[in-house]
Amino acid sequence: MTRKTGNLILIGMITGAVLGAIGGYYLPEFFFKISFLGTVFLNALKMIVVPLIVASMIMGVTSLGDIRKLGKTAGYTFLFYLTTTGLSVFVGLIMVNLLRPGIGVEQLGTDVSDIVAKGQGKTLIDVVVGLIPENIIDAAARADILPLIFFSLLFGAILTSIGEKGKPVVAFFEAINLVIMKMVTIIIYFAPIGVLAIIGEIVARERDSVQDLLSRLGMYTLTVILALLVHALITLPLLLRFIAKRRPFGYFKNMGEALATAFTTASSSATLPLTMDLVEERNKVDSRAASFVLPLGATINMDGTAMYEAVAAIFIAQVYGIDLSIGQQVVIFLTATLASIGAAGIPHAGTVMMVFVLTAVDLPLEGIGFIWAIDWFLDRCRTTVNVWGDSVGAAVVGSTKEFTSYTAASDKIEPSQPNE
Ligand code: ASP
Repeated sequence: MTRKTGNLILIGMITGAVLGAIGGYYLPEFFFKISFLGTVFLNALKMIVVPLIVASMIMGVTSLGDIRKLGKTAGYTFLFYLTTTGLSVFVGLIMVNLLRPGIGVEQLGTDVSDIVAKGQGKTLIDVVVGLIPENIIDAAARADILPLIFFSLLFGAILTSIGEKGKPVVAFFEAINLVIMKMVTIIIYFAPIGVLAIIGEIVARERDSVQDLLSRLGMYTLTVILALLVHALITLPLLLRFIAKRRPFGYFKNMGEALATAFTTASSSATLPLTMDLVEERNKVDSRAASFVLPLGATINMDGTAMYEAVAAIFIAQVYGIDLSIGQQVVIFLTATLASIGAAGIPHAGTVMMVFVLTAVDLPLEGIGFIWAIDWFLDRCRTTVNVWGDSVGAAVVGSTKEFTSYTAASDKIEPSQPNE
């Protein structure tokens, strides 16, 4: 896809979102009728997630070639994930303590016993156990990404160790990867219509909560958005500029369609095909780095979600008039980070994980009830930051000496370095 076509599609997506938001508000019936178009777009993205993850991870690992390189890459990747998630929660905690959005908010709320039940009893041990699937086909059928990643990493690593015999299998997965990437390019053409239909339908459905968004929960919404903006527009670009030596604006612009899709779908996993395509094709990040950092990041690196959990927990404490000690805020910092790692890259997963954070500091679980009203909106905002964080991570890890340096990226600053 040429840059010009890419720009046109991005403009189409933004126009679709704006028209969908206005249309959904004034013509809800019409947007309910065309909501199937959104489902088609979303399904098309979800359809390719499983083969994409398996093929790209296996290809990524086998092309690293050397198990030590894999170890180092994994080390950099986890260091990046943890640092950025920590920074993001820190910014959220500062904002929510400064702006105090929960003071004076009346306690109202919807019944969220369903969500609470889903989140209860989910421990870190469950996450670890869930890594190893009982049945890989079943994990794939449920689009359970972490076990798929685990399996693919192991498969790829062992594949490199069997020499000549493994070559046809490597070539097979390389070809699958290429085909899937081409499919992504086709799906992107339908993105403007998909965005129009999805945003239109969600606004039509959530019309009543727009009032909440603007009034009762306005200050809370503003706090979350400001904190997300600081992370997305200051912290991450600084890392991109100084560690990956990339021009943040160019890199950001190149990710446009993926970020718009993240906002539209509220799912990092459904956005993954686009994220990979744009990071590799347009931002020219080494595909081996991208195919390692991005699938993993879509489920475990969620800067926006982690920040959201911390802000929401403290907001709930403020609404209930509960003063939290510094020690309790540290517990929130840690549990919010863990909760974001455990949350799946699907809509509202982060809100379900709120149960984990609130329980850790004995805050009332019913608090989830009144942030639920606008979760449809904040979920989209935090997912966009999650995807942006993953994209920056790919550039940062891709800039380490384990990888060939970039080729011909328009936003590249440093000259290409020779291969190690
Ligand atoms: N929807 C988010 C994502 O897919 C997860 C969350 O609910 O925070 O990245």
